[in-house]
Amino acid sequence: MQCYNCNSIYNDYLGYCPYCGMKKEEFNVCTECGKKVKKDILLCPECGGKPVKETDEMKSDRLNKEGLEIKSRHFPIYYFDEAIRFNKNNIEAWFNKAEELYRTPHNAIKCCDAALKINEDNPKLLLAKAKFLKQERQER
Ligand SMILES: [Zn+2]
Ligand SMILES: [Zn+2]
Repeated sequence: MQCYNCNSIYNDYLGYCPYCGMKKEEFNVCTECGKKVKKDILLCPECGGKPVKETDEMKSDRLNKEGLEIKSRHFPIYYFDEAIRFNKNNIEAWFNKAEELYRTPHNAIKCCDAALKINEDNPKLLLAKAKFLKQERQER
């Protein structure tokens, strides 16, 4: 679950956001500016655009992007995990998760392998995997 107020990712079983205390609430996203708005709001308060319900793919892409942009107390990996949860075929999110796990190359390699199952020829993933394999060897 993502908090529509503070953007944090938190566990679905919680009824409220543990970071800002906001009640759990599904939200739509403005097609124009990307602002998150409550479901009963029909016009975006920022730009007057139309909020829509996101598909799982849209959600996954947005979370992956937010994970890359994040500079707060929250960990980008939460965003990549959530992005993968909504779309297991989101190769970019797998790649970004692998990069976040560079301290534990074994786990990073697992992410690369998961993504390589979707596209075995992806050069970015192959390079990343080679990098982590090398790193793993050096650490032994
Ligand atoms: Zn919150
Ligand atoms: Zn808007």
